[in-house]
Amino acid sequence: MSTETPAHAHAPEPGRDALDADVIVVGAGNAGFSAAHAARLAGLRVLVLEREPKDRAGGNSYYTAGATRIAHNGLDDLRDLIEPDPRIERATVPPYPADEYAADLARVTNGRNDPDLTRVLVEDSQDTLRWLQRLGLAYRLMFERQAYETEGGYLFWGGLHIGNVGGGEGNIADHTRVAEELGEDVRYGVHCVDLIVEDGQVVGVVGVDASGGARREYRARAVVLAAGGFEANAELREQYLGPGWARAKVRGTPANTGDMLLAALAHGAARGGDWSTAHSVQWDAFSAQNESNRELTNRLTRQSYPLGIIVNRDGNRFVDEGADFRNYTYAKYGRWILEQPGSVAWQIFDARTRPMLRSEEYDMPGVSVVTADTIEGLATSAGIDPAGLARTVTAFNASIATDHRFDPNVKDGRRADVEPPKSNWALALDSAPFFAFGVTCGVTFTFGGLRGDVDGRVLDAAGAPIPGLFACGEVLGGLFSGNYPGGSGLAAGMVFGRRAGVAAAATCRRA
Ligand SMILES: Cc1cc2nc3c(=O)[nH]c(=O)nc-3n(C[C@H](O)[C@H](O)[C@H](O)COP(=O)(O)OP(=O)(O)OC[C@H]3O[C@@H](n4cnc5c(N)ncnc54)[C@H](O)[C@@H]3O)c2cc1C
Repeated sequence: MSTETPAHAHAPEPGRDALDADVIVVGAGNAGFSAAHAARLAGLRVLVLEREPKDRAGGNSYYTAGATRIAHNGLDDLRDLIEPDPRIERATVPPYPADEYAADLARVTNGRNDPDLTRVLVEDSQDTLRWLQRLGLAYRLMFERQAYETEGGYLFWGGLHIGNVGGGEGNIADHTRVAEELGEDVRYGVHCVDLIVEDGQVVGVVGVDASGGARREYRARAVVLAAGGFEANAELREQYLGPGWARAKVRGTPANTGDMLLAALAHGAARGGDWSTAHSVQWDAFSAQNESNRELTNRLTRQSYPLGIIVNRDGNRFVDEGADFRNYTYAKYGRWILEQPGSVAWQIFDARTRPMLRSEEYDMPGVSVVTADTIEGLATSAGIDPAGLARTVTAFNASIATDHRFDPNVKDGRRADVEPPKSNWALALDSAPFFAFGVTCGVTFTFGGLRGDVDGRVLDAAGAPIPGLFACGEVLGGLFSGNYPGGSGLAAGMVFGRRAGVAAAATCRRA
């Protein structure tokens, strides 16, 4: 537990006791808790209102792998942040400077990332993670997901190296414990449906009790919205992301239906960021419980595709599986699958690549996979056109630049010159048995949110702050568009959550 404890010594203020709290935070995910801790450490009374009951709480943050992208100067810079592990001494962790982080954000979003939010995210990322660690969150090096084993060691890649101990479950368990220790009032089962605005100032929220349906007002001097995006709302997905998006599977919480986004818009907040795209991945297509599954969480994702090929029902490839490290492509390929016939596709591997697939995903209980000794047999069992798949595999195998050595740790230039090309890591599919993993589009979170400044102040259409209203996490739009660098969702949540909490506290003081 931190030595930073709340400064309780506030003189009583007129009317303060009539309030439910000084600051209300809506949503108990990673961003909401970060805001709540910051406001509480500033000495304020904090009320966190969470829609779900405690045993289903944690939002999308619960479902994550805990991977958190921060800028750092290599292993020595991280040692005092991470839990002991005998593998650390054999690990090589390349530095990930702030300017590389900013460049990655600009590259994967095609320059549509807000420059001010980007600057603050990359500059604050390590300091904020250190702050959370001092408060009691535990972090580790992500050996299983972000490193390949080399002779005698582990080489980390892709700029994303550190994560919560215990993944997303660990993130939420740690945050919840810290909230209790700091004395935050966290109430579960309160579905917030509106803001209370008086004389242009946000002074609270309207909540509906999830069990009894009773509606009541919760009053405070400032409100921080941390209630996620609208990814779990099929109607809003169709409206903003486009036709077909109702078919996407919801990877995370069913609670992020965008209600408080709509409420804020109705009270004059401006939209921020890109409302037309979302984070979406390749996701188990056929297993029975492939939505909001709290046991399997992230294990339903299929992220070893750079080692194989992806085909649609006609047996045709439609993406460059090796365009970049997986961290920089995985968040956009779900949408591409949604556009294929039946919104399904198959990842194809052979006996040589199968052992290299991430075990936690590809050995998942109930995984959608078929196996066969021939490519045609595989296609028939999977429901792919056999002639189409045979044609694709034959052309793919014949086109590989075999003068480049296969190396999954670097972009090895081992290219398949077909259409579309596979730019790296092309290995011939020629060793039986063959494997086809059925995938569809899993929607993770929406990129569009409210327009805000770097302290989470929500702005109106004229760019003026709406007094008393703050946003963080997925509610704060502007950082991501079309794609995103893995691990920056949790990073943005903690950075802008903390800043929104501090700014909300300052507002209360002024009040
Ligand atoms: C399967 C999966 C894996 C992921 N892996 C990673 C990863 O490893 N690294 C990474 O950086 N990102 C990852 N992400 C993305 C990451 O989850 C988000 O970027 C991040 O958790 C968003 O945090 P948040 O606090 O804004 O939202 P959330 O964590 O979703 O929290 C929002 C909270 O608000 C509550 N809520 C919603 N509406 C209301 C309402 N009207 N009233 C009251 N409460 C409400 C919800 O119940 C929820 O608890 C993953 C997402 C998923 C689904």
